[in-house]
Amino acid sequence: MTSTPVQPPVRAQAPAPARMPAPAAAPVAAPAPRRVFSAFQASGRLTLGNYLGAILPAVRLQDEAACVYAVADLHALTVRHDPAHLRARTREVATLLLASGLDRSPLYLQSRVPAHTELSYLMESTAHDGEMRRMIQFKEKSAAQEEVRLSLLTYPALMAADILLHRADLVPVGEDQRQHLELTRDLALRFNRRYGETFVVPEAVHPETAARVMDLAVPTAKMSKSAVSEAGTVYLLDPPADIRRKIMRAVTDSGSGVRHDPAAKPGVSNLLVILAACSGRPVASLSYGSYGALKKDTAEAVIEALTPVRERFAVLSADPAELDRLLAAAAARVIEETSGLMAAARRAIGLG
Ligand code: ATP
Ligand code: MG
Repeated sequence: MTSTPVQPPVRAQAPAPARMPAPAAAPVAAPAPRRVFSAFQASGRLTLGNYLGAILPAVRLQDEAACVYAVADLHALTVRHDPAHLRARTREVATLLLASGLDRSPLYLQSRVPAHTELSYLMESTAHDGEMRRMIQFKEKSAAQEEVRLSLLTYPALMAADILLHRADLVPVGEDQRQHLELTRDLALRFNRRYGETFVVPEAVHPETAARVMDLAVPTAKMSKSAVSEAGTVYLLDPPADIRRKIMRAVTDSGSGVRHDPAAKPGVSNLLVILAACSGRPVASLSYGSYGALKKDTAEAVIEALTPVRERFAVLSADPAELDRLLAAAAARVIEETSGLMAAARRAIGLG
């Protein structure tokens, strides 16, 4: 992604006559920077899917827009969890996001900004029961649980609140979030129509390559933080030997041709996409005679992409007090900057 710097207004060339005040340059309104928001659940260890699908695009957007990012610790309560584990994962996710390059924007913990849950209730009071039950993620995740938490069903209302609270124009997310983003747009439009213009209607930003990284062991399923099996998931903190082993053992397809054809060859296509995204080369330019050679190059490209992240993580982890300071300052700033929107939403819906 490239950004076009805003040019300063051009000044008149001719010198102003003596003693006459120089004509004031006509004010040129710079376009307001676009606003970006995205969040990452503290539901497990961040994966290569998270990195290529959402973190890298979020890092790049910092060059051209006003970005705010969060660790969605409340979303991690939607499935069975262990409190101590959640606490540790939340810090790990925050540190990894910083290590990945989300260090030029406010980064905070969702639970420290109470407006998220307040606005979520207004979204629950705007959404319909049927809309929530239709969500693919709800169907998939609830099918895998014995006891389904109510918050898993209402998750999209909180996600809509997360985004709308920031008046975000753009939301960098992976392909799997497309349906939730559509619902967020519907809720914003419905609220605005019923109660007056309050929310910005956001757009999803998906990366051109790797918007949906698949599990290496089950290439028809998306790679996930909360996947049951670790064999098919590359974690950002995996040591190089683990990355190599997982990729060399990736499930490929019958037949030997190496070509990008996700329907007929999901395993090989996934490796091609991962290699392209990690090396910056287009998928179409990759040509291989064997699965072995493709796997070897993919493993090395992933290791090269993730090594600086792992190294930076080690440095940042040595100073936990600095992480606390940074998260607290960002939360305070977000509380202040979103209070106007929250007051407007309350007023619009009839709460004072
Ligand atoms: P969980 O299994 O707990 O839902 P997750 O791996 O899906 O975890 P999230 O925190 O839900 O991670 O998502 C964070 C971001 O990463 C979202 O923008 C999501 O779309 C993106 N993302 C998640 N998995 C992938 C994937 N396999 N490929 C590309 N993007 C992904
Ligand atoms: Mg997810």
